[in-house]
Amino acid sequence: MSMSKTVDLAAHPLTVWQGPLGLPDFSRIGDNDFGPVFDAALAAHQAEIDAIAGNSEAPTVENTLAELELAGEALDHVSSIFWCRAGAHTNDTIQAMEREVSPKMSRHFSAISMNEKLFARIDDLYQRRDTLQLDAETLRVLEKTWKGFVRSGAKLDAEGKKRLAAINEELSSLGTKFGQNVLADERDWALFLDEADLAGLPDFLKSAMAEAAEMRGQKGRYAVTLSRSIYEPFSTFSERRDLREIAFKAFIMRGQNGGASDNTDVVRDMLKLRAEKAKLLGYGSFAALKLDDTMAKTPKAVHELLDPVWEKALEKAAADQKELERLAAEAGSNEKFAAWDWRFYQEKLRAEKFAFDEAELKPYLQLERVIEACFDVATRLFGITFEEKKGITAWHPDARVFVVKNADGSERGLFLADYFARPSKRSGAWMSALRSGYKLGDGAKPVIYNIMNFAKPPAGEAALLSVDEAKTLFHEFGHALHGMLTDVTWPSVSGTSVSRDFVELPSQLYEHWLTVPAVLEKHALHVKTGKPMPKALLDKMLAARTFGAGFATVEFTASALIDMAYHARPDAPAEPLRYEAETLEKLHMPDTIAMRHRTPHFGHIFAGDGYSAGYYSYMWSEVLDADAFSAFEETGDAFNPELAERLRKNIYAAGGSKDPEELYTAFRGKMPSPEAMMVKRGLV
Ligand SMILES: [Zn+2]
Repeated sequence: MSMSKTVDLAAHPLTVWQGPLGLPDFSRIGDNDFGPVFDAALAAHQAEIDAIAGNSEAPTVENTLAELELAGEALDHVSSIFWCRAGAHTNDTIQAMEREVSPKMSRHFSAISMNEKLFARIDDLYQRRDTLQLDAETLRVLEKTWKGFVRSGAKLDAEGKKRLAAINEELSSLGTKFGQNVLADERDWALFLDEADLAGLPDFLKSAMAEAAEMRGQKGRYAVTLSRSIYEPFSTFSERRDLREIAFKAFIMRGQNGGASDNTDVVRDMLKLRAEKAKLLGYGSFAALKLDDTMAKTPKAVHELLDPVWEKALEKAAADQKELERLAAEAGSNEKFAAWDWRFYQEKLRAEKFAFDEAELKPYLQLERVIEACFDVATRLFGITFEEKKGITAWHPDARVFVVKNADGSERGLFLADYFARPSKRSGAWMSALRSGYKLGDGAKPVIYNIMNFAKPPAGEAALLSVDEAKTLFHEFGHALHGMLTDVTWPSVSGTSVSRDFVELPSQLYEHWLTVPAVLEKHALHVKTGKPMPKALLDKMLAARTFGAGFATVEFTASALIDMAYHARPDAPAEPLRYEAETLEKLHMPDTIAMRHRTPHFGHIFAGDGYSAGYYSYMWSEVLDADAFSAFEETGDAFNPELAERLRKNIYAAGGSKDPEELYTAFRGKMPSPEAMMVKRGLV
């Protein structure tokens, strides 16, 4: 029996947002509301689709393409809140609902893309596209829509369609399971320590570990958890080699611990289904299918980027390891240098080479000031400003709400941010939208959010960030700007709806402004004295920017290569984890460095479909961002107004309204080569 009849979509707080500032009124949304509202919203969307497909009038852009884009508003609303909760503040009820909703959504959207009457109307428009006198953006949306239908099986026969729908449904269930398994392993593991075990740990880490222990019911003790904000500094600073080894092994075994949360079989099944899906749609491999609508276009082009980088990174890492081994020997270690030694001795080497350590920087990187810096840079580049609205409760008391304003004071949209780690949040950092901005129909203002996993300081203390964490904040804020500055007509090309290997350009480019000296001088103020970071320390920090490039590039590129290895073959490996090991061996992966994401917890490529055959995208975008920032450096002004305007117009505001190469060339005049990226990484 369905309860959907009793839900009034025109009045429910999940679908009609009547909270402050036009946000959803989260206080009126219960965990058990999602199920019935989803059912009703799916049915309403289906009715709209049926009406479009069954229209007796000849197809036009207005009665078909535009109607299709604007359909499903209630479903968009309930979905965006649900996926926000599922990632940022979940619980058993939400997780159970996620397992139910994922396959339902997959079925629903499969049915739409395989709806023959609907596709016939899109196809009719597509075939006549040159005679319809469409503006460039509309033409592009029509072409993308048509291709999307074809890539989703619109041209398959009935049997093929049925099989594809079943595959998609199973893949989405498996993706959900994968993510929940990793979360379970991360939540269930903690290493509780006492005062005597903390040798080498800086104060900020001790505070964070104390807070983490208290959250887990062990007040007075200290917990090493598998959150990156704790795990990485712990492996960097702990003088206890035995404890570093325990933490390292737990970290790399997430998702591979046997029992109910083990992802080994999930991965095997997903790879098999993906290979079958690609074949069904006429592609040589899943990577060929996924890359078809990216800038790279083919696995070959991806390898042309990754392979030379890999060779350089291996050389650099091997040279670095020799130095680290020397340091270890000098420190009296007679053990074989191991993966849990790398971060520890790399930090010692940094201190030796640049005469400062990470912990010295931290008091200057207060979370509040880094947020201010993010906003300030956006104001200087793009003229927008941010005003915090206190006292508005979103999905969790830690989530904060900001009104984004245009230079003329008019409201541009909303920005929400939720900075601290907690057991109900999945790891990592991300940007998403409660609502995208667009002009079609009545139009909509963007409501964008950022989720972080910084360690929460004890009450009354300021949260301090590492340089990497501050970069992550800038990174996700760059994505948020892509959402907030969007200036397109069609919802489907709004904001971050761009080719996946282009989407990291706005985010990675934004990171560059964190280390612009004028920005640090203004915002990197000591937590106790309020004094700016001394020039000498700032210089040392900038000089050390490419330090550790061998390690960082090896750990990243190994993950990108394994992703390609899985997906660029026509079939699937019978035993993925064995295949991972064999592939790494062939690549001469050093046994002293672990992949940044090993297969059993590689959420980018298995917790859903987002970055499968696409982890390389970060580096692809990096080629663009290194070159794009050089454009500012060449003018000698990191805030050059003319360039900033070109950047806004062609990159941050343009969404997917044009081909990415065209957009980049409009900003920069030409496409870049990988050289600037290799130099920026310190590999050449
Ligand atoms: Zn990103």
